Amino acid sequence: MATSAAKPETETLRTLPGDDVRQILWRFADRYDLQMLVQSSRSVARGIVAHLVAEGARNTHEWTERKNELLKAYDDAGITAAFMEPEEGGFISGPKNLALSLIAHELAWVDAGAATGSLAGCLALSPIHERGTPEQRQKYMSLAAPAQPGEDRKPWRGAFCLTEPIPYVGVDTGMLNGKVRVAEWNEGEEPMLQVEKRGRFITNMGFANFATAAVDTADERIKSSCIIILEEGDEGVFDRGTPTRKMVHQLSSTSDPIFSLKVPASRIVGGYTLKDGVIVPTYTHSEVIEAVFKRTRVTVAVMTSAKLLSAIEPVIRYQRGRFRGAEQATPGTLRYELGLQQREDVLHRLLDVWAMGEASAALAFAAARCFDVVDPLEKEKTRILAEQGIKGGKSELKFFRSVTKEALEFLDLCAKPEDCRNNVRLLELHENKLVQYAILDSVASVLCPAAKLWNTGKGSVLMREAVSLMGGYGITEDCPGFLGHKWMDSQLEATYEGPEAVQRRNLTVTMTNELFLKQFRNWIIEMRAIAAHKPGTGACTLATAMQLWMWTYNHTQNGTDANGNKLYHGTRQAVTFALADALCWLLASRQQILDAQELEAKGPDNPVVAEGLAGTLQFMTDLCHIQAAKAAGEVARICAELVYGYNRHPAWDEDGYKGCYQEQELEMLEGVIPGFSACATDVIGVDGTHPHKEGPCPSCRGLSGFQRIRNKLDGCLTGVMLAKDRAAESLQTVMIPEALDYPM
Ligand SMILES: Cc1cc2nc3c(=O)[nH]c(=O)nc-3n(C[C@H](O)[C@H](O)[C@H](O)COP(=O)(O)OP(=O)(O)OC[C@H]3O[C@@H](n4cnc5c(N)ncnc54)[C@H](O)[C@@H]3O)c2cc1C
Repeated sequence: MATSAAKPETETLRTLPGDDVRQILWRFADRYDLQMLVQSSRSVARGIVAHLVAEGARNTHEWTERKNELLKAYDDAGITAAFMEPEEGGFISGPKNLALSLIAHELAWVDAGAATGSLAGCLALSPIHERGTPEQRQKYMSLAAPAQPGEDRKPWRGAFCLTEPIPYVGVDTGMLNGKVRVAEWNEGEEPMLQVEKRGRFITNMGFANFATAAVDTADERIKSSCIIILEEGDEGVFDRGTPTRKMVHQLSSTSDPIFSLKVPASRIVGGYTLKDGVIVPTYTHSEVIEAVFKRTRVTVAVMTSAKLLSAIEPVIRYQRGRFRGAEQATPGTLRYELGLQQREDVLHRLLDVWAMGEASAALAFAAARCFDVVDPLEKEKTRILAEQGIKGGKSELKFFRSVTKEALEFLDLCAKPEDCRNNVRLLELHENKLVQYAILDSVASVLCPAAKLWNTGKGSVLMREAVSLMGGYGITEDCPGFLGHKWMDSQLEATYEGPEAVQRRNLTVTMTNELFLKQFRNWIIEMRAIAAHKPGTGACTLATAMQLWMWTYNHTQNGTDANGNKLYHGTRQAVTFALADALCWLLASRQQILDAQELEAKGPDNPVVAEGLAGTLQFMTDLCHIQAAKAAGEVARICAELVYGYNRHPAWDEDGYKGCYQEQELEMLEGVIPGFSACATDVIGVDGTHPHKEGPCPSCRGLSGFQRIRNKLDGCLTGVMLAKDRAAESLQTVMIPEALDYPM
């Protein structure tokens, strides 16, 4: 690539993508309320949060007075109330997944521990919000809402307590040690319950006034497990426990609490009924946490994306200024003007970080938006099912069988050209809320674990790359953008709310939903269509990689290994988890391409974005291409391992010989087809000798479809390195502010 600072021929990125670009990419250009929330969250992040980090507040595990100031800052900025409905003290009505994700993005841009602290309060309230009785919702939301002007009260803070001392909970949430028993039950009075629960690593516990805790029944008069609300003032022990000696996220409070409390049965989240003298909780603890984690993992995914994107500006600044001050680096020389950016490798590695940051943000925000649409549909579904007297398990499954059929019909109709489909039926199905719920929920249920798994897991790997680009500076506390801290912090994001295994397990269930798979097939067509009018986006590469994944998925569904054992099986994580991993790459890349399409469509209407749009668009498109190629490579590797890896390699034995030419046979063929013997590799001599290699080459019978797609995929990489070179030129010329707008 060129190393001169000469003006590039194509349009390049003029400035780093600002708010206006982000509002289009993440689809909140028409949401003034969210734009204000972004601004207020940013002032907290780049104000008190950044100061706390710079002052070394991360050097203590204790929840100090100074850290406690964060809570008031969240209240004042509207962060605490963003989760609530207006009637509960909030200011955003309806679903708030995108709002919470934007808050997480802003706070995690500086410090994800701060973001976690704010979100953990929502997590504590989530069980009550999703499954609580109206009375529970009213009480705890109002208590947790920040004081209104003229009100003299301190808002309540909450903690969510699921994980227990090893060997309980963690990944296997079915195993609970926390117990609930009947303490007193006087005739005609509400039962009083005795709750014993020990938590491990519980966020916000240093100051929480209440905790929503998962407990199992230890009494035959209580039917099942449940989530129960414990308050600070309850009779018994509410011990916050010792602070966790974390090396990460020190701006959130974490400790191992001990609870031994007597509470009324009305604290069971979602309430209970009495049946034959037994307390029957409306929801088991699993049903509640399923509803909670269904969405809240998205915000965790956003945190790691924010870290990657926040690394770009500090790294560019470092690279450019690296040699300034040295005798040989005088203004006007390449050394002075470009610094490390004279070198291709640093530019290309930064592009990898940036591309991953864009893709992961695209995926997480898409998931958040999807939940914003699903949430009201889900409420409608609950209402309709209740109206029809359908409750839980089997009857719901049976009911949804016919809905799924209609949903598949809808998707089939969508994929057909307008003039040769039944548009009346299409409209009818489009207006059917249950059908639309089933379709969107199948996508949301994949996007959430995918974003959590991929953004945090792969993000932490790329965060290391960002740190390495800062050299030794990267692993000092003085590193601008706190990159070293962020690298370590990202490991926690990959751990809590369920580590990788939990997300992969979820995906192995949700990605097999026929509604999801149908849409996935339609997305392949969608990517080809984009590629047709916009080559250079990587959409074509991605479509082929998606095809390869689909082929492999089908192969594993029906195929067996060399021993005749089924490939796709609940206990065969090497297959199911690998396919889940591969899928995530595809989903993130697709979403990034769709976002770039959105920018192309909406950018011209925004005067700020329109200025320099050509360069921004070219750059973002090149990043899509880079990421699609990376995704394709990962998917090809994973799929090839699965497709070939479970066949036993042939050996020089009787069976293996069957696939080889005999020397005499070759001589005969050579007489008929001259030159033939030069193509044969596995030849057995008259005396039984054979070439020095492991064994005859494996036969690929039945795999030609896979080979064809994989070959095509390699060809689809055409142009990607040119895109990288072009994007690298943008890195050399893009303007950045004089200094970071938060302390170092
Ligand atoms: C700072 C911090 C704050 C936290 N805050 C909270 C909180 O507020 N509330 C709360 O309830 N919890 C909280 N947690 C707990 C957190 O959710 C758990 O640490 C997390 O779920 C992982 O569980 P574990 O530590 O038991 O790991 P383990 O379950 O021991 O996992 C270890 C490894 O084994 C893998 N693994 C485990 N089981 C399987 C399996 N079946 N198949 C394949 N692989 C598997 C995992 O993926 C992981 O890589 C917090 C943790 C930390 C560190």
